[in-house]
Amino acid sequence: MANTPSPSTDQLTPDRSAPWLEPRGLYVHVPFCAHHCGYCDFAVTVGQDHLIETYLEALALEIDRTEVTTPVDTIFIGGGTPTLLSPDQLGRLAGMIRRHFPTRPNLEFSIESTPESITADKVAVLADHGLNRFSLGVQSFQGHTLRVLERQHSGDQVTPAVEIIRRRVPNFSMDFIFGAPGQTITDWEHDLKRAIALGSSHISTYGLTYEKGTPLWKQRESGDVIALGETDELALYTMSHELLGSAGFEHYEISNFAKPDHRCQHNEKYWANEAYHGVGVGAVRYVGGRREHNKRNTKDYIRVVFSGESPTFQQEELSPFERARETLAVQLRRSDGVSRQAFLHQTGHSLKSIVQHRLAPMIEAGLVTDENECVSLTFAGKCVADGLVSKVVWG
Ligand code: SF4
Repeated sequence: MANTPSPSTDQLTPDRSAPWLEPRGLYVHVPFCAHHCGYCDFAVTVGQDHLIETYLEALALEIDRTEVTTPVDTIFIGGGTPTLLSPDQLGRLAGMIRRHFPTRPNLEFSIESTPESITADKVAVLADHGLNRFSLGVQSFQGHTLRVLERQHSGDQVTPAVEIIRRRVPNFSMDFIFGAPGQTITDWEHDLKRAIALGSSHISTYGLTYEKGTPLWKQRESGDVIALGETDELALYTMSHELLGSAGFEHYEISNFAKPDHRCQHNEKYWANEAYHGVGVGAVRYVGGRREHNKRNTKDYIRVVFSGESPTFQQEELSPFERARETLAVQLRRSDGVSRQAFLHQTGHSLKSIVQHRLAPMIEAGLVTDENECVSLTFAGKCVADGLVSKVVWG
């Protein structure tokens, strides 16, 4: 192979035909939700279901205008709550995606969902279009946690939703939030055990963040809710690692756990810093090294797409060196870590030229390992990942 780096090389031209340049993944955003959860600051559209039909028409136009150079092997419909759409609308959405984007035989085709929006006919129409993975936003089974997060479903709605999904789509993931006000370690243990018992092949656990301006952030500012302390949060995170590990889940990314062969292949593209298409309001795409952000307001997005213009409102193209640093930052999130050889091949820069002088104290502190030509975070490193990654990468 002409481009094989030698271990002593510090710079080389990245492979021009690689998955970090040509998108092999597709993200489709559906912004509609029945209700705005108290902690959420995603691009969501609430109480405007009358816009769904027009939004689907705009999405069809954006999809038709998307240049496709190679088949995709992952499709992820996210939101919002995509399963708020009717079975007919979901069928049309999946159909327009499948018609425009050629796929590879091992396609992973996922959709985000909520327990209260699942019905058998929605699952059936999606499965008929090749959808083979559900990602269910459970967040908790506990009534008091769901109330503080202002979720619309109850813990009791989860099992029936899972039963409906599994009849057609056996592979499903569950999302949980830990660190909610009032959440105890017993609550968390109960949540994880129920998720395991329901047969989830993949579990995501996200630490609650108080995003400025959200209702939950305001409640914390006014003292109406008390945030959990760092020690309590760490105890919950450690429990996820231990309990899910002993149940056969691999802790393959800071917030993600998978049964063997059930990692989320779509999200793995983000953590590898590989290219992906992105369509819909608020969607991001990363194609040929350029990252583009679509407008975040649904009415603006529809207007611009119908007028024949691009819905992009912001774009950036990093220098090769900055891109290498960004690649390092996301790849450190993976338990697979950063392979020195693959990193050089992908970015054109050696890991050594970027961070070598910063690694030694972190290895000594037990936060990072550097073995077999691969750098990765230890569990202690994962516990302080945000600050640690920024220190490793940017100093
Ligand atoms: S369902 Fe999800 S996307 Fe919609 S408001 Fe709640 S957290 Fe946000």
